[in-house]
Amino acid sequence: MSKSIVYYGSPRQARLEAEETLPAKLDLILERLHLRDRVKGETVAIKAHVGGNIGYSTVHPVFLRKVVQAVKDGGGHPFVTDVDWDVAGSETRGYTREVLGCPVLPSAGINEAYHYVHHREYKNIKEWKVAGMIQDASFLVNFAHVKGHPSCGFGAAFKNIALGCMVGETRSAIHDTNHYDRYWFGELCPDEAIRQRIKEACPFGAIVDDKERPGDLHIHFEPCNQCKRCLQVAPPGSLKIDPVNFHSFMEANAISVAITLSTFEPGKAVHLALATHMTPVCDCFGFTSMPILPDAGIFGSDDIVALDQAILDVIAKTRLIEENVPTSMEVWYRDGHPFQLLHGPYKDPYKVVEYGEKLGLGSREYELVDVLPVAEFVRAPMAYISASGA
Ligand code: SF4
Repeated sequence: MSKSIVYYGSPRQARLEAEETLPAKLDLILERLHLRDRVKGETVAIKAHVGGNIGYSTVHPVFLRKVVQAVKDGGGHPFVTDVDWDVAGSETRGYTREVLGCPVLPSAGINEAYHYVHHREYKNIKEWKVAGMIQDASFLVNFAHVKGHPSCGFGAAFKNIALGCMVGETRSAIHDTNHYDRYWFGELCPDEAIRQRIKEACPFGAIVDDKERPGDLHIHFEPCNQCKRCLQVAPPGSLKIDPVNFHSFMEANAISVAITLSTFEPGKAVHLALATHMTPVCDCFGFTSMPILPDAGIFGSDDIVALDQAILDVIAKTRLIEENVPTSMEVWYRDGHPFQLLHGPYKDPYKVVEYGEKLGLGSREYELVDVLPVAEFVRAPMAYISASGA
């Protein structure tokens, strides 16, 4: 597959001027993507996560307003959309028609009753319910905020569609793919006292009694960072901490994206991502904690695989800000991507793009085009003046 283009706006600037900032670089990216030329007469769904409760690190309305304006300039009919309970109350975070310049609508209607069913079997999932407003749109602008994620290490363009364009029932089923492959073999651990010790061995409370099968254990994979302390207590073979359980969620994300994008004609979707104030976990949590990575900039592409790959590659060159990691989390793994340091080696953030490429959604080979490279700032020559003024 040939190289895709990913347009990129660096968070760095040479001068303290508006045209070197990220909203201005978004304008340049929209121009390079020819968004205005592509949306005439189109009903354009701008899918963004509008956050919840008191979160403030989602894509700021200033950025969304620019996309809305570009769509209007091009003769398109935009609406901003997200799942219903995040849209409800989103005005408290600044996402209103007045601010954005277009309606803010629940993607599957009130109570997520409006959807289309797609049949495709993957582990525990047989039906995928795509939000009705998304499938009815003729053009998609997928505008993601980049952040960590407790199930797959990170969330960006893939996750914004995979979870954000399906109804709650499908979102839950996608999360449940973690549990499809068996990891607890209770017949090898009949002793209740040992099961109790296994639960107590996990410093994150990730192992609990299985509510549906008394005597069995259940892992909450979100807080699990694969430290494997539990395996030191469990009888041999009774418990597995296996990549397959973690990777299932990522593969399900890729399939979900493939299904949603299949409802758009070729060339009728663009993908944008803002990598600022990246928190340890996703914006669904309803709050914003401290950033755990330096800002990485803004990205845009027609190719969702190339986009998320480029984001990860840019972030890979930065470092985890460990002093901002909540003390309830533990950084024990030192050998991978910064998101793996945070969430553990099996939550490899590259898996989702690997699965996406296999499904034909795009290419991991890309060219990164900086829309406004940071200028070399040359100071005017001046006579020597000592710093102290002495
Ligand atoms: S691997 Fe570590 S974090 Fe995961 S369940 Fe076992 S003890 Fe808990």
